[in-house]
Amino acid sequence: MRVMDFRDSVLAAIGNTPLIKLKRASEETGCTILGKAEFMNPGASVKDRAALGIVSDAIKKGQLRPGGTIVDGTAGNTGIGLTIVGNAMGMKTVIVIPETQAQEKKDTLRSLGAVLIEVPAVPYRNPNNYVKVAGRVAEKLAREEPNGAIFANQFDNVANRDIHVATTGPEIWDQTGGKVDGFVSAIGTGGTLAGVARALRERKRDIVIALADVPGAAMYSYYQTGELKAEGSSITEGIGQGRVTANLEGFAPDQSFFIPDAESLATTFAMLKDEGLALGLSSGVNVAGAIRLAKELGPGRTIVTMLCDPATRYQSRLFNPEFLRSKGLSPPEWLDRPVEVEP
Ligand code: PMP
Repeated sequence: MRVMDFRDSVLAAIGNTPLIKLKRASEETGCTILGKAEFMNPGASVKDRAALGIVSDAIKKGQLRPGGTIVDGTAGNTGIGLTIVGNAMGMKTVIVIPETQAQEKKDTLRSLGAVLIEVPAVPYRNPNNYVKVAGRVAEKLAREEPNGAIFANQFDNVANRDIHVATTGPEIWDQTGGKVDGFVSAIGTGGTLAGVARALRERKRDIVIALADVPGAAMYSYYQTGELKAEGSSITEGIGQGRVTANLEGFAPDQSFFIPDAESLATTFAMLKDEGLALGLSSGVNVAGAIRLAKELGPGRTIVTMLCDPATRYQSRLFNPEFLRSKGLSPPEWLDRPVEVEP
């Protein structure tokens, strides 16, 4: 008998992403390095999971209902996830974004129907930081909107981490048949790394959990020395944390790697050209970290990392030779070449 095969809604299409073997990274290290294809989520990023986790939790607690408004401060991907989830559940979204983020993400948010508030990029300690602005906007809308409003608060709302404990971690465990030796991720909110770590450590005590951190973030220094100290800056968007968020409380990695932009950029471009995986720079950070961990653990191991979002989200920057050069980075030769086609 033939049966119908469909998902109930777009929400049921979030998660259960495939693991893709990363050929070059695996060959270079003699390990099996696998990338979890989060760019295949409906909103094209890992943050669809967090969005669904946060919204479901708020509904369960009676804080959010249809017609309500979801507010958050995001570098873009969480806002895209929240807007897709909100649209599917009859809720509005108001997204506060630092104006420094890629135009592609802002355009996507607007075309999905989010109300976008762009604010200058200032550090967290400044009261006008985008996350704090989002908190104030949510408080105001909670008073004014007839169906209420919530502050999704992705950095300090552990429903973010918990969805990775409940879904991403177990998926990785099942997909590798429990043969996973290491997991590597960067930190934005910390939800992915702390959540997957918790799920995998519950199943295998000696699994190696590693942080891949970027210049300008403080977590590498924090886990190495106990001091929150940042050095340099990075063009990577969506990751790079300067404090211990609620999602990171009680978590520590076994290993930490500091990945300069030149290394993550080369890894990102190599995956694109050699393997057809067109990804954003945070995926390059993750895979560069996985390669470092593989070299430390030695051949024969299985290491999993996250492929967070697609290259198209960063066309105007990552694939713009002038922008890269202005940041002291060298564009690959093929990107720099003028197109010569006979008409
Ligand atoms: N990569 C990208 C592109 C992201 O937008 C994010 C989310 N901020 C991450 C990685 C990191 O995920 P997390 O917030 O779970 O630490």
